[in-house]
Amino acid sequence: MATSKLADPSDASLGHTKGGNPHKRPLSDQKEGTCPVKSCRHSFRHRPNPQQAIWQHLAYYLNPMCAESPASPFRAAHIEMHEKMKAESASKRLSASEQKERQKESKKKWVEKNKEKRALSLKKSNIRKKAKRELNRKGGTATEAAIEELVGKWLGP
Ligand SMILES: [Zn+2]
Repeated sequence: MATSKLADPSDASLGHTKGGNPHKRPLSDQKEGTCPVKSCRHSFRHRPNPQQAIWQHLAYYLNPMCAESPASPFRAAHIEMHEKMKAESASKRLSASEQKERQKESKKKWVEKNKEKRALSLKKSNIRKKAKRELNRKGGTATEAAIEELVGKWLGP
């Protein structure tokens, strides 16, 4: 049943949530764009690509040129986080590459099948040409039926 509220399309243009509350910033978003190391939490949200900036930030601590002492727990935490994130992204990449592999496989099959089809139709058309020539040479009329018959004979059962 259509209530008058649902029937009025102008309702959709109102900037309210379903509950009538104003939109609020999702809390989970707060972690995004900041260094995942708890003791750091350096923000990269102002950067055009915060995720990439975090990677660079973490990778900095792997660099022997890093100003922090190698014994620094702060540095160690960043190196550890880098390892962890790398492992996570590697496992994500794996499933993505697996998907790609599967796509490649099915495309290969498709190409294979098409090649066969094309080869077959090429073979057939060559045989048809040959049959036409043969029929013409014999002084007969190369009708469609006559060609088909000859082709069928050549191709066998
Ligand atoms: Zn950090």
